[in-house]
Amino acid sequence: MPAFLHDFTVDFGLFLRAVFRNFKAQTHPIFLHYMLQMMISKRIGRRQFHFTVQGNNFHETVAEYDRLSFPDVAACGLCGSDNLDLTSRVAQDKFKYTSVKCLDCRADLTFGKTQKDDQTVFLRRREGGELDWKALEKAV
Ligand SMILES: [Zn+2]
Repeated sequence: MPAFLHDFTVDFGLFLRAVFRNFKAQTHPIFLHYMLQMMISKRIGRRQFHFTVQGNNFHETVAEYDRLSFPDVAACGLCGSDNLDLTSRVAQDKFKYTSVKCLDCRADLTFGKTQKDDQTVFLRRREGGELDWKALEKAV
């Protein structure tokens, strides 16, 4: 048998054993594992974004969904344009920002994170409750 064929046979045997092990693990009652998924759609300006969250059960899946419970954003709070997009940036190599950006006037609406859980995001608001749109900083 040529060497490459021998290698192939060995590899294929290992592969089959691995598949069989996984199959047994997945069908054994102790290892039976469900994942629930939920798809969320968010409208940001004229664009629609789809996110999939998942958990081990209904409660976990809904908890993941809650972490993305920011509202749709119809238009820029400064110029009224619906030409918005999502964007992320890292400042000073360590501060991660995610925001809604107006592609017309470059205004920025930053997502905040809760202190105890940086996976939970919300849109920043002013004291009056309106979304905290910030004009493009001219100095940048
Ligand atoms: Zn704008």
